[in-house]
This record gives sequence, structure tokens and C-alpha cells, in this order.
Amino acid sequence: MLPQQDLHSVSTPDALPFYKPVGNECAVFETAYRQRLPLLIKGPTGCGKTRFIAHMAARLGRSLHTVSCHDDLTAADLTGRYLLKGGETVWMDGPLTRAVREGNICYLDEVVEARKDVTVVLHPLTDDRRILPLERTGEILHAPDTFMLVVSYNPGYQNILKSLKPSTRQRFISLSFDFPPPEIEAFIIASESGLPEKECMPLVSLARQLRELKEIDLEEVVSTRLLVYCAILIKSGLNPYHAAETALVEPLCDDPDVKQGLLELIRATYG
Ligand code: ADP
Repeated sequence: MLPQQDLHSVSTPDALPFYKPVGNECAVFETAYRQRLPLLIKGPTGCGKTRFIAHMAARLGRSLHTVSCHDDLTAADLTGRYLLKGGETVWMDGPLTRAVREGNICYLDEVVEARKDVTVVLHPLTDDRRILPLERTGEILHAPDTFMLVVSYNPGYQNILKSLKPSTRQRFISLSFDFPPPEIEAFIIASESGLPEKECMPLVSLARQLRELKEIDLEEVVSTRLLVYCAILIKSGLNPYHAAETALVEPLCDDPDVKQGLLELIRATYG
């Protein structure tokens, strides 16, 4: 099975997606690209990894093939397979093969979710050979200089069965992402939502308090993405308390007691 349409997307570098740098990540990415090194980005959900890669791909004038990895994703989903078309079998490139042939950027989001055979196709692409052997067609593709492989994962999700093998990790240079510092996060939320920056500041302080709640066992914490959603609701006229309840509490938990605890913090800001 090829990845479903929504799990594989291609973006062309016509428009430059807005990205506010937090450190020297743009320089690291550009150097990795120029030096033909693969890049691993670690960080929590919704902290800007995908936006950063889209921004850098456009900045470097490359199309971006993004694949959201899941636990059924196999090497053939990335490389391609023979399909029956009008009574004939035709080879269909997968997204990784397309990116290699075109000399563009391939981004495998949450790569640890994919089946183990995926690492086998990534290995020869991530050392100085930079090749993609296609067993089924007998081809050996040599990646052009403009091909780059970027993978990401969220170490927070990591369990013992689903971590990257050290021998795979060692093939990538790595960047660690986290939620941006308060002023930068407020600036991002304001830019993304249109809500004035001074109204984004209380949201950011609230998010910091929610993120620091150690006694509450949430699988994930409030992301920059959810803060942007919350600001969009406020900007559209929704009462901030209800906006925060809908965008910051409900997406993260189901337990009524935990919800009450989170709502109390929100009431202290917007009550
Ligand atoms: P991830 O890939 O880490 O799950 P995304 O890149 O999709 O997260 O980020 C979620 C949203 O947060 C983006 O759509 C964007 O609105 C916003 N965002 C986060 N960080 C930044 C940033 N540094 N610059 C611009 N927007 C950002």
C-alpha cells in the first residue's frame, strides 16, 4: 500500500513559509544541506519542526516531500512498487525515490514509528555513498548534491521498542527543538493569529504554567500550535476562558479531575 495522500505531501518552493528562528538552526540546516549531511530533529509535538523544514526547503529553493510515518509504513511505501495499470504493471516511485531522483528534500516525520525495514533503505543514503538501491527495478540511484534527508521524532513518546537504533542515530547530525522562549513564542502566536502581541503574552505565561505542572500526568503538554489555535479563537471574538478551555485543555486530557485542575489555572488568568 502506498502512503495515503494525506500522509505524503509535496510542497514547492514558491512561497516562503513564515518561520521565526530561535537559535542558529537555520545556519545548521543550510550547512548540513550544502555539506550533504542528513539531519535529525528531535522535539515535542507542535514546537515548530515541520514549519522550520518547510521554511528552509523554500529558502534553499527545493521542493519538500513530507511523509508522516506510522507503524504500518514499510520501506516499499517510501521507495515505490509495481502497480497494475490498464492491464500492465508499472513502477511507481515512492516519495523517497522521487526526492532522490529530483534532488529535493525528503522529510520523514516521526520516523521511529515506521517499520524496521525502513532503516535498511535509509542507511546507504545517510553515509558517503548517498545511494538508494531499488531492489525491485534493479536500479541504484545516486542522490544529487541537492538531495537532503531530514527525519524527526518526539523523544517524549519514546518507548524502548520505538527508539532509533544508535547505529541509525549516528548517521545524522541532530538538532534539539523545544518550545520557544516567551517573547519569541508570543511573537509567533501574534504573527500566526493576528492577535496583538500584548494579548498573546498572558497566553504564553499560562502555557508555561501548564507545561510546568509536574503533578499532572499528561502525555503531552500545551504546544505552540495549540496556543496559535487559542489565539485565533480569541481574535475571532470567543471569550478567552472558553478559547483556552477548547484549545488548551480539551485537546490534552479526558480526565474530569485533571481538567478541573487545568481550568483553575486558566480561571486565574482569564476568570
Ligand atoms: P511540529 O512539526 O514540531 O509538530 P509544527 O512545525 O507543525 O510543529 O508547528 C506548529 C505550529 O506552531 C506551526 O504551524 C506554526 O503556526 C507554529 N510555530 C511553532 N514554532 C514556530 C516558529 N519558530 N516560527 C513560526 N511558526 C511557528
